[in-house]
Amino acid sequence: MTDVILVLNAGSSSLKFQVFAIGNLSAPLANGRITGIGNAPVFCVSGQADKNLQPQDHHQKCLAEILSWLSAQDWQLRAVGHRIVHGGTKIQQHCILDDKIIAYLETLVPLAPLHQPHHLHAIATLRRAYPNLLQIGCFDTVFHARQSKLQQSFALPEKYFVQGVRRYGFHGLSYEWISRKLNQDYPTLFRGRVVAAHLGNGASLCAMQGGKSLATTMGMTAIDGLPMGTRSGAIDPGAVLYLIREQKMSAEEVEHLLSYESGLLGLSGVSNDMRVLRNAAVQNPHAQFAINYFIGKIAEGIAALVTTLGGMDVLVFTGGIGENDRALREDVVGKLSFMQHFETVVIPANEEAVIADYTLHFLSDIRG
Ligand code: ADP
Repeated sequence: MTDVILVLNAGSSSLKFQVFAIGNLSAPLANGRITGIGNAPVFCVSGQADKNLQPQDHHQKCLAEILSWLSAQDWQLRAVGHRIVHGGTKIQQHCILDDKIIAYLETLVPLAPLHQPHHLHAIATLRRAYPNLLQIGCFDTVFHARQSKLQQSFALPEKYFVQGVRRYGFHGLSYEWISRKLNQDYPTLFRGRVVAAHLGNGASLCAMQGGKSLATTMGMTAIDGLPMGTRSGAIDPGAVLYLIREQKMSAEEVEHLLSYESGLLGLSGVSNDMRVLRNAAVQNPHAQFAINYFIGKIAEGIAALVTTLGGMDVLVFTGGIGENDRALREDVVGKLSFMQHFETVVIPANEEAVIADYTLHFLSDIRG
């Protein structure tokens, strides 16, 4: 039997997973996902035909499906690494998910209501199924946790900062991977002034140097910063107040608007998916407008981070759009042509490799 690590990313409508052999983290043994949870869930795993699950199968049943598939393989599960969106103010390092940490993560649900409950649910289910299994939490906020107070603060009275109303930043596991790859493949650039652009369904920018995050575009929640597939990105807080006060929208309705109906989808009225927008843009000016808006905000965001870094030596693109949409990369770089020379690099996103690596690290520590 092969000893394996499971990497699990429990999102709001999907469960993504990879399985790694402990002796070889360079490529996963299996790569799978259940998408469309809450609507029409489909279980896909590398090398097998897709399987449609029942529309009423929610997270619990979908996770059970993955665990049952896993137990049918000739593998011994040694540890699981979870991708967790929010680590709050207290979690400054990826860590073992013990009772104390889990209790703290429960208190962060209001900061990431669309993600955190699903992470906690997956942790609890795995605990029940494998009471002695080592469970590791890897956090999207950790890479940014040591930014300066200047970067972490909103211009609000200090007491709100103390209460946790502050900028945390996300996509940290993706940025950590980029930083590792730069260090390995481009050591000179790694030591230089780096702006990384993670452009997928979620989108953000990060200024980093020597493996440290100095500034990022996402804030207290993952709605802030750049416009995204369905998220608004930065918006005048007065507009939010207006929607609540004058349009009588509830907090839940505003949350739904900003999280699921805005961004590329809201602007185009067509789709949140860049490939669909590219095809539609030939005939539909709204689709082109959404693309232009996205490109403009990416370039503006980079220029702002360049101020923090005092220049830029390399711009790194990652995520589904950043890796695949060459025209978008060229347009962004074109808008920055007023700047002095900088390199452009594409690095495929691989948060799972970072999670597998930390999980193995904790496992080896425990085994001595
Ligand atoms: P997630 O944030 O869910 O992991 P991805 O990083 O996979 O998402 O990015 C999804 C986005 O990448 C979608 O908007 C998709 O259209 C876009 N994308 C994927 N391939 C291409 C391509 N060849 N050209 C343009 N956009 C692409």
